[in-house]
Amino acid sequence: MIADVLVVGTGPSGVHAASVCAARGLRVTIVDVGYDDEATRAAIPAGNFRELRRTDAGQSRYFLGNLAADIAGVRVGAQLTPPRQFITRDAETLAPIDAPTFAAMQSFAAGGLGAGWGAGSYSYNDRELAEIGLPVAAMTACYNDVAAAIGIAAPEHDDTSAELNRFRPLQPPHELDTNCAAVFAAYERRRARVRGLGLAVGRAPGAILSAPLGSGADTRDANPLDDMDFYSDASRSVYRPRYTLEAICRLPNVTRRSGALVTHFVTGATGVDVHVRDVRTGATEVLACRRLVLAAGAIGTSRIALRSLGIIDRDVPILSNAYAYVPCVNLAMLGRPARTERHSLAQLSGVFAEAGADRDNVLLSIFSYRSLLLFKLVKEMPLPPQLGVLTARLLLSALTIVGVHQPDRRTPHKTMRMSLRDGAGRLAIAYQADASEQAGIDRRLATIRRALRAMGCVPMGTILPGHGSSIHYAGAFAIGTDRSDPLGTDADGALYAAPPVSIADSANWRFLPAKGLTMTLMANARRVAAAVCEELTHA
Ligand SMILES: Cc1cc2nc3c(=O)[nH]c(=O)nc-3n(C[C@H](O)[C@H](O)[C@H](O)COP(=O)(O)OP(=O)(O)OC[C@H]3O[C@@H](n4cnc5c(N)ncnc54)[C@H](O)[C@@H]3O)c2cc1C
Repeated sequence: MIADVLVVGTGPSGVHAASVCAARGLRVTIVDVGYDDEATRAAIPAGNFRELRRTDAGQSRYFLGNLAADIAGVRVGAQLTPPRQFITRDAETLAPIDAPTFAAMQSFAAGGLGAGWGAGSYSYNDRELAEIGLPVAAMTACYNDVAAAIGIAAPEHDDTSAELNRFRPLQPPHELDTNCAAVFAAYERRRARVRGLGLAVGRAPGAILSAPLGSGADTRDANPLDDMDFYSDASRSVYRPRYTLEAICRLPNVTRRSGALVTHFVTGATGVDVHVRDVRTGATEVLACRRLVLAAGAIGTSRIALRSLGIIDRDVPILSNAYAYVPCVNLAMLGRPARTERHSLAQLSGVFAEAGADRDNVLLSIFSYRSLLLFKLVKEMPLPPQLGVLTARLLLSALTIVGVHQPDRRTPHKTMRMSLRDGAGRLAIAYQADASEQAGIDRRLATIRRALRAMGCVPMGTILPGHGSSIHYAGAFAIGTDRSDPLGTDADGALYAAPPVSIADSANWRFLPAKGLTMTLMANARRVAAAVCEELTHA
């Protein structure tokens, strides 16, 4: 029997789309490549970061892995810790990209890039949703559904909550670690000055449980504050799409087809033929469905749809947030010890906007640096390695990393292009910020550094890891009203050029706000899936 809905992808977008269709009782097939690495995860013993560093003789396997690649830091995905390196496995061969000025991270993992995401979970404001093309009222309910399903610890009210976490329910926020508590105390003391520079700071909203959630096989525990979140998923406290996938795959109306790479689709009178290639044997196969939901990540979905619609050798848009990180020394922590108990992910968020009406938000994520190990930081320091190690050790409890994401808009100089040069399809990406955009990015960074200084965090430099490094992507399609546009979709993601096919990820967003997109991806995927279900029910 053919599937009612076939969902491509098991990242955050795919699993939430599939879960809505499955809950409505439709026959759902989920297709993905599905790489995972249970063995390295299972090799991590229980214990907190400090204990394991002191006592576990086998720690190099999960803390260091292939150290040479990490130190070189050139391969896409080299920044992922060893238990997370399966996330980028085979991406360069399964989905080749020519992009000398853009480092795209693609994933063929179970859970996609969400197998390693930092769990920063934000709602977009009405203006941001409208510029993307998403319906504001409908999104509110979907944000709430995601928050209930995955569990988000965040403050009910602080200086950033109205901008960052409008959804409910919320779990209580985690206690701040010693370093970020000192940063926050300095912010509270100098609030007027910092707010005057355009920066508001609050506790970071994160899909990191502070109380247990779920029941039976789906139980997830509160975060044990063992500072092992870049390595271990033992408590299941940080949300991974894999947990939703496991739950829906137990339902009788859901089938998962793993190890399959979708190459293209062909639409017909009764539905869609989805062409897949087995990644182990190379055998090809056609899977039939009534409706196809594409959630292969913005770049993956664009690749499949461009090829299927014959949009070849034509420039189409790509978006990616500009990213910089600013390592700082928090003066209040010099010489002070830090508590062991903490989670490893962002502790504080900042929302920065320049003065004036309707100015874009810039998002700051504030971390204390410890469990990512000092060598990663030392290789970025403008010091000889031995001096770098010494400096980093002396400053360890005061080291504060501030990640800065900026919004991105389409220009003619940010493009993807599909070619069929080697038969299978190859993407080229050319990405360049215009001079005026770059000037805006630099100006905002300069004010943010001043605001950080006002909070006692002294920047040691600004690291620009390059275009694409935010790992936040959107394009090549667009939500719009022009039904003759071969790249157009309606607000529910249905392609005008192939109506039984819907986009459930960010491949049709016209704008990429600065806040991490994943919470909105999950909420929107649920909305797109609900529209597909509705339409099938009426059909
Ligand atoms: C280290 C790291 C930290 C991050 N931190 C944050 C954060 O704190 N906050 C935030 O908002 N975002 C964060 N992100 C970004 C976030 O992970 C992505 O926005 C999100 O995963 C995108 O979800 P997606 O489902 O659209 O695509 P993906 O996660 O890319 O999933 C794509 C899925 O499609 C499958 N697929 C792709 N092509 C094919 C094909 N041809 N055939 C079959 N299957 C296919 C893949 O196997 C995968 O299952 C982070 C990412 C990383 C790597």
